[in-house]
Amino acid sequence: MFVDVLLDRPLPAPLVYRLDESNAGSHVIGSCVVVPLGREETIGIVIGFNAAPTIDAAKVRSVRRVVASVAPLSQHWLALTRFAADYYQHGWGEVAVPALPPLLRKVPGTRFEASLARARAKSDLQALPPRDKAVQLTTEQREAVGAIGSARGFAAFLLHGVTGSGKTEVYLEAIAERLLESESAQALVLVPEINLTPQFEARLRARFAGLPIVSLHSGLPDAERTAAWLAAHEGRARVVLGTRLAVFASLPRLAMIVVDEEHDASFKAGDGVRYSARDVAVKRAQMADLPVMLGSATPSLESWRQAREGRYTLLTLPARAGAGATRELPSVECVDLRAEAPVQGLAPPVRDALATCVAARDQAIVFINRRGYAPVIACAACGWVSVCRRCTTFAAFHKTDATLRCHHCGWQTRVPVVCPTCGNPALAAVGHGTQRVEEALHELLPAARVERIDRDTTQRRHAARDALAAVHAGTVDVLVGTQMIAKGHDFRRVALVAVLNADSQLVAPDFRAPERLFAVLMQVAGRAGRAGQPSKVLVQTRFPGHPLFAALARLDYRAFAERELADRAAARMPPFVSQALLRAEARSLETALDFLRAAALEGGKVAGASAIALYDAVPMPLAKLAGVHRAQLLVESVSRPALQRWLPIWLQRVREMRFSPRVRWQIEVDPQEI
Ligand code: ADP
Ligand code: ZN
Ligand code: ZN
Repeated sequence: MFVDVLLDRPLPAPLVYRLDESNAGSHVIGSCVVVPLGREETIGIVIGFNAAPTIDAAKVRSVRRVVASVAPLSQHWLALTRFAADYYQHGWGEVAVPALPPLLRKVPGTRFEASLARARAKSDLQALPPRDKAVQLTTEQREAVGAIGSARGFAAFLLHGVTGSGKTEVYLEAIAERLLESESAQALVLVPEINLTPQFEARLRARFAGLPIVSLHSGLPDAERTAAWLAAHEGRARVVLGTRLAVFASLPRLAMIVVDEEHDASFKAGDGVRYSARDVAVKRAQMADLPVMLGSATPSLESWRQAREGRYTLLTLPARAGAGATRELPSVECVDLRAEAPVQGLAPPVRDALATCVAARDQAIVFINRRGYAPVIACAACGWVSVCRRCTTFAAFHKTDATLRCHHCGWQTRVPVVCPTCGNPALAAVGHGTQRVEEALHELLPAARVERIDRDTTQRRHAARDALAAVHAGTVDVLVGTQMIAKGHDFRRVALVAVLNADSQLVAPDFRAPERLFAVLMQVAGRAGRAGQPSKVLVQTRFPGHPLFAALARLDYRAFAERELADRAAARMPPFVSQALLRAEARSLETALDFLRAAALEGGKVAGASAIALYDAVPMPLAKLAGVHRAQLLVESVSRPALQRWLPIWLQRVREMRFSPRVRWQIEVDPQEI
């Protein structure tokens, strides 16, 4: 007997192996198997029998063993991973095998069997019925729950509501209804970041006391993640909460999917198979014929368009939930930097507001999307600036340890005492980062307790959690930080949020930059006023007339989205066209560009090329990263199916292209950063 086996290798097709008759029942399809590959053993997944291998039967190697302790993966799961592989232009095995848990992927040995036994022993939790509702839902929340509850088969919902409007309560209630319908139904909840799982898990546990709930993300130790995966796979876990990788969890009794903060860029994988967990979640719901709910205060324009064109049902939560007036939304104002010259990065109205806020014993957040002390240091005498030795970018000044650091490749060096070119001892820090703002705040408010949260302060495990706990406990007056502070945390006493460098994103080259800026500003605005006191958001900008700020001032996502969508439609940009990005890396920029030009030429010859726009090959915004030169080629079509038909043929020709010197390349479908 021969079987086709998926392996985690960039192969055009599964590999054929021989299987003993004794192992070859029909249940073997979907099973994990240990197979020889070269001189190694590796794990694979059987996808079917192969009646007539095209290679010499004598050369076909044998499956070493079937991992009988793990039940076969379902046809639905196989179909899902196959869809994702095809759509994102990778091998099926490159999607399916990495979706298996770590201990299973590392050729399961005795450690695996032991953890399996432990996991099963631990999980005989009784599935108690969900506890009574903790809150009385508002009319809008009830309508949203009702809409999802009455859905039969596939239906997609977009739940739009500002932070604190009660979206999570809607998810919990909708899940409760589904889980009550059947003894064994499972729900999948995706959140964008590991940091957000503990809070969400706590709410799930409070709501569903006794119900088996597991978390699934890459921050877990291997054994724990494996146990969680098995609990899902074996139907023991009723709710699976996870980050993007959980979208490929095996869930035999899946009944509904929730994607919280669906707009978040973290749902798109940054390397390997660059899938969008949000998009895969919708597809999964469609393939399994069940409802999916996407929630956000600032939906992605892709989802917004689906909703306005009627493919998703839009559900809106109008305002903050809870006791009416005590949960007022903040007022948002621009501070015009052209009229109010900043002192140490802080414009006078912002300085005044901070002083007033602290005097009133309220908390303030200062948001600046840049860590370090200053993004660059410069010599006024000769024009020298600090740059990374390995990238085409500046090296940031970190005052706390007197280093210059590249935030892209990690390169660092001691900060020079004098200018390296002319010897001038007066080097100046240019611009502001979190460290410099922290210093300015200490000067401005000497009595205030200031805390900083960014990637540098949170190196230590739990550092971020401890710092956030201090904010919650009220032992911090002013919190300075990067976008790490923008997400999800429910600060109680924040009366002021100051946003310092919004403009850097307003004028960025990536067409999605304004969308991301609006989302993050809505999110930081959402930090203010949660305890009911009047609160204020101040945004420092040189472009106070920009329509983005007008929409922000009214916390009006809809106005922003409609305008931005109209612009995108007029400019023929996503979501009105589908894109893919071919990236090349080489020892020189010319090589990378030449490769892409050759690839573009091939692309023009492929059948169906008339429906595809091939742009010029260009250097990437960060043209050199860690010594490697990088260029990109954008391809797009108004027709997603046309692009999907053309891509695999094109990429096959690119693979066969004879091109030297060496170039590494990768494809990203639906690229999020261009
Ligand atoms: P979101 O997920 O939109 O940020 P949450 O569901 O977390 O909003 O709700 C914000 C806060 O309001 C939570 O503390 C929640 O318990 C509370 N809340 C939500 N809905 C209601 C309601 N109908 N009545 C009272 N409190 C509510
Ligand atoms: Zn100099
Ligand atoms: Zn660098």
